[in-house]
Amino acid sequence: MVGEFHPPARILMGPGPSNVDPRVYLAMAKPLLGHLDPDFIRIMHQVQDLLRYAFATRNSLTIPISGTGTAGMEAAFVNVVEPGDKVLICVNGFFGERMVEIAGRCGAEVKKLSGTWGKPFDPAEVEKELRAFRPKVLALVHAETSTGVLQPLEEFPSIMKKFPEALLLVDTVTSLGGHPVKVDEWGIDVCYSGTQKCLSCPPGLAPITFSPKAVERIKNRTKKVQSFYLDMDTLGKYWGNEMTYHHTAPISMNYALLEALRIVQEEGLDRRFERHRRNHLALAAGVEAMGLKMFVDPPHRLWSLNTIAIPDGTDDAKVRKSLLEEYNLEIGGGLGPLKGKIWRVGLMGYTSDERNVLFFLTVLELTLREQGFEVPRGVGASTAREFYAKNK
Ligand SMILES: *Cc1c(COP(=O)(O)O)cnc(C)c1O
Repeated sequence: MVGEFHPPARILMGPGPSNVDPRVYLAMAKPLLGHLDPDFIRIMHQVQDLLRYAFATRNSLTIPISGTGTAGMEAAFVNVVEPGDKVLICVNGFFGERMVEIAGRCGAEVKKLSGTWGKPFDPAEVEKELRAFRPKVLALVHAETSTGVLQPLEEFPSIMKKFPEALLLVDTVTSLGGHPVKVDEWGIDVCYSGTQKCLSCPPGLAPITFSPKAVERIKNRTKKVQSFYLDMDTLGKYWGNEMTYHHTAPISMNYALLEALRIVQEEGLDRRFERHRRNHLALAAGVEAMGLKMFVDPPHRLWSLNTIAIPDGTDDAKVRKSLLEEYNLEIGGGLGPLKGKIWRVGLMGYTSDERNVLFFLTVLELTLREQGFEVPRGVGASTAREFYAKNK
């Protein structure tokens, strides 16, 4: 006999998944409907409307892909890229590398613009590459979860205007719902995200939106999309007016996403972004007061994911193990070249909360002191507290 599973109630401050609002768990326990039931179809349309709100877009083709953020990434490339197409990908972290891998599998002629892990791209440098390479797609990661860097996108609409043959494809997995994401204003043609980061829903769906220009590109393909499951032509019909069966939508996950998006709407995007900003600033202030260094320069830091340089002589794995086992607190380690060099501390969605910030700073201090790292008692949490008092 296999016993019942009782997962510990972790505080999920890693790079995702984040903690889930109890309202979302309750939504998932609601009775199933058939995937063509009129009541389910009504929910689908509500999910689409709320996704348009979250993405700040009027794009009609806006749906949740069945699958996690990576399925969103795959759906983005597989639909707008045909074999032989030139694709320019800006890589300054792990997820940019993943884009290169996926675009390559689509048969694209990929040009990788290599940046520095921990720094954003200078738009002028990207423009230079666009002029030299003339790609059909330019791909960027808005919030690079492997480094904690935010890529500003405000300058891209005026750049992309000079290259009308190119689509702008952006990964917003770690920014949607935590940082402003303005699909229409920034001229993004293909934008995808995931449910388990700043939307605070379990992993399982990948919101995606396509501009009319991207839809046109898909319509004019010479070859069928090689993935049946992620083909927006047929999938879009299920989510559009035709409602023809394509695959069974993950019903309960859609209930969950609807509730998570209703929570986003109730809070309001601006207030939600401000909450993420404030908690990030408090955490960074506390971390620096403890004598630790943030990995990214202040103007480029993500609010949803904080990267901290691991102090010399500290045992990375031991610290994370102690946080998890003794305090039920999950944080992430570094990926690729940053393995053993940084900690990744998420403050995403429901997890972005003052009490979590204060708890993290307190138990990190206890753990570091046990490892022989000198930290004045209580300095991290009290600095964060003072920050909150001054920034009501
Ligand atoms: C998490 C993440 C992904 C992948 O999402 P999964 O849900 O793990 O498939 C893609 N891009 C970025 C920037 C991410 O942070």
